[in-house]
Amino acid sequence: MRQSWHDCFAESTDVLKRAACEQTIVPVLDLEIGGDEFITMAGPCSVETEFQLMATANHVRRAGARILRGGAFQPRSSPYSFPGLGLEGLKMLARAREESGLAIVTEVMSECDVPMVADYADILQIGTRNMENYALLEAAARSGRPVLLKRGMVATIADFLRSAQILMDNGNPHVILCERGIRTFETAMRNTFDVAAIALLKQISHLPVIADPSHASGSRELVPALSRIAVAAGADGLWGEVHPNPDKAWSDAEQTLDFEEFDEMMASLEPYLALRAARAPSVVLEEARAMEAVG
Ligand code: PEP
Ligand code: MN
Repeated sequence: MRQSWHDCFAESTDVLKRAACEQTIVPVLDLEIGGDEFITMAGPCSVETEFQLMATANHVRRAGARILRGGAFQPRSSPYSFPGLGLEGLKMLARAREESGLAIVTEVMSECDVPMVADYADILQIGTRNMENYALLEAAARSGRPVLLKRGMVATIADFLRSAQILMDNGNPHVILCERGIRTFETAMRNTFDVAAIALLKQISHLPVIADPSHASGSRELVPALSRIAVAAGADGLWGEVHPNPDKAWSDAEQTLDFEEFDEMMASLEPYLALRAARAPSVVLEEARAMEAVG
C-alpha cells in the first residue's frame, strides 16, 4: 500500500489490509458479506404497512436480493417528515424475515435503542447523520450484531475509517462500510456519489464495501447506472430503495424504484457481475497457485 495512504489512515490501523487479513467476511444467517457473492440489500426507505413490506420483501427476494432493508427509526432531514413506526416496524421486519427468509438490516439511532433493535435485526445500520456518534458506535459494536456503517455526508474517508476503527476497538470485527454520497458544491443531485472512495476503500481496507446509489443520487433514474458503476469499482454489494408504489412512499419517494424498475436494474447488472465473478478473490488465488505450480 502507498506510504501516503498509510500516513493518511494511521489512526485506523485495524481497518487497513495486512498480510494476515486481506478481506473480512461478515457472516449473516447463511450469507457471507465480503465473499465471492455480490450481496444486494433492498427494500423500502421506511417500513409503512404489513402489505407494503411483505410485497416488497417477496419481490426483491425473487429478483435476487439477499437482505431486506427498511427503516423503523428514521432520521429525517425535515422535522416534519415521517419518523418511522419504531417497535411496530421492527416487529414487521421480523415477520418479513420469517416469511421471506431474507436477513434484516435496519437503522438504530440512539444507544438506548440498541438492545431492542438488536433483538429484531440481523445487521445494525448506523446512518450518515450518526457516523460520529461515538456513544452509539460503542453500543452498536458491543451488541455483537454486524454493523453497517454509512459514511457521514461531510466525512472524509479518514473520518469514516476512524469510526470503523471505533467499532473494531469495541470488540466488533463485523463491520461493513457503506458509501452513500457526500455533500459537494453540486446541487443537481441529492449528494455526489464518491465512486473513487469505493475503489480506494477496496485497495486499503479488508472490510466489505457496499454502495448506496439511492441516497447518493436522490433520483430513481440514476440508480441503475450508479449500481453498475459500483460493481465495476469493486463494491461487495448494493443498497437500494424499492417500494410497490414509489410515488406514494412515505419517505424518499423520488429515489425509490418500483418492482419493474428493480427487476430491470438487476438484469442490467448481470454482465457486470459475470466480469466480477471472473475476478473473484478465490479465482485470483487459484490462478496465482497455478502460476506458482508452473514456476
Ligand atoms: C437509509 O439508508 O435509510 C438512510 C436514512 O440513509 P442515510 O443515513 O445514508 O441518509
Ligand atoms: Mn431513505
